[in-house]
Amino acid sequence: MSRLLIIGCGGVAGVAIHKCCQNSDVFTEICIASRTKEKCDAVKAKLEGQTKTVITTAKVDADNKDELVALIKDYQPDAVLNVALPYQDLTIMDACLECKVDYIDTANYEPEDIEDPQWRAIYDKRCEELGFSAYFDYSWQWAYMDRFKEAGITGLLGTGFDPGVTSVFTAYALKHYFDEIETIDILDCNGGDHGYPFATNFNPEINLREVSAPGSYWENGHWVEIPAMSIKREYDFPQVGMKDMYLLHHEEIESLAKNIPGVKRIRFFMTFGQSYLTHMNCLENIGMLSTTPINYEGKEIVPIQFLKALLPDPASLGPRTVGKTNIGCIFTGKKDGKEKTIYIYNVCDHQECYKEVGSQAISYTTGVPAMIGAALVVTKQWDRDGVFTVEEFDPDPYMDMLNRFGLPWVVDENPKLVD
Ligand code: NDP
Repeated sequence: MSRLLIIGCGGVAGVAIHKCCQNSDVFTEICIASRTKEKCDAVKAKLEGQTKTVITTAKVDADNKDELVALIKDYQPDAVLNVALPYQDLTIMDACLECKVDYIDTANYEPEDIEDPQWRAIYDKRCEELGFSAYFDYSWQWAYMDRFKEAGITGLLGTGFDPGVTSVFTAYALKHYFDEIETIDILDCNGGDHGYPFATNFNPEINLREVSAPGSYWENGHWVEIPAMSIKREYDFPQVGMKDMYLLHHEEIESLAKNIPGVKRIRFFMTFGQSYLTHMNCLENIGMLSTTPINYEGKEIVPIQFLKALLPDPASLGPRTVGKTNIGCIFTGKKDGKEKTIYIYNVCDHQECYKEVGSQAISYTTGVPAMIGAALVVTKQWDRDGVFTVEEFDPDPYMDMLNRFGLPWVVDENPKLVD
């Protein structure tokens, strides 16, 4: 019996909401609140009558802490699930802190305005000290540790698929298969085809910023940064086939490097087709990925936001996308003194997701774990005061729920390694 406030009503939220409604024994009531209330009302209208979960909706600007606090005080949720954008993480955490309510999200903080001098000074120092230049990192949210602890609330960070399930796979591998994990390769393969020459599978601004940034990996206690897309490998993915994949910086590397004792190397690879890369390079070369506002005929526009308005809405890709995703982790390490290798992965079919919840597999593979993280927090199966990433909790109930809620996983004890 619990009450969840869900902030954001885009692609990922749509799936998380469906899944909360499939788990109405836990989520007896949910409130969907976003900037555009009509979207929340439309989702509510679609689900009402098919679920025992009582759904209400609200309008909120999650950049405004006072509005959030007023909504939380009014709705009195047991927890807040943030599936808006990473830009809103800190205001939502501030509001949860003020109201002493648990907080859950799927992506770590990233500022909307990377030219803000105050943010920039901290960022430049971090780049120098830590050696990776991504605009997002955990430091902003880890800084809430003591305040969440004092308030007696849980902050669960990054419960999507990657980060999220990939980190739970790591905790599960460590608990059941290894005494020590030496290397982790996280492989994110989208074998889906939406039929457009170019589109992004989730929020274009967040997606393109991530992919066009330099890559980096963790090795022997420090970061190694490389030019964007400069390390390429081929991998034969179960149920998808041979794909090109590229090394990217990714946020779970940062928390896994901190939380997995003795790990020597962590890399993240994502598959991209040639058409996607050609379009992205071209857009970058002409300045369309810039977040710096320009003046166009007397009006200020942000190029990447204008591009977002031109591109297909990720939430609209569902009916057209065919094929499968395969996301998982290859671990090497030792068990009882012997070398060991395992690959834990999930395969998800775009069209099956669409039939079930009306969305493609990228939103599905993020929305299901968002619901699972929220369920484990509100039922107190995961209950620690402070701010934590998912690998810091017992992975077993999470792995069990992945099987029950549409993301079954496989353990391959003899996988091909990535060189
Ligand atoms: P969308 O752009 O589809 O949806 C974002 C939603 O947030 C929209 O409903 C938007 O409202 C709402 N929103 C934006 N700004 C505000 C605000 N100031 N106040 C209230 N609501 C706001 O994004 P996705 O669903 O694709 O992504 C959601 C989150 O999931 C992102 O943080 C993304 O990084 C993360 N993600 C995580 C993954 C993982 O595996 N861990 C994978 C994919 C995504 P409106 O419609 O009115 O604009």
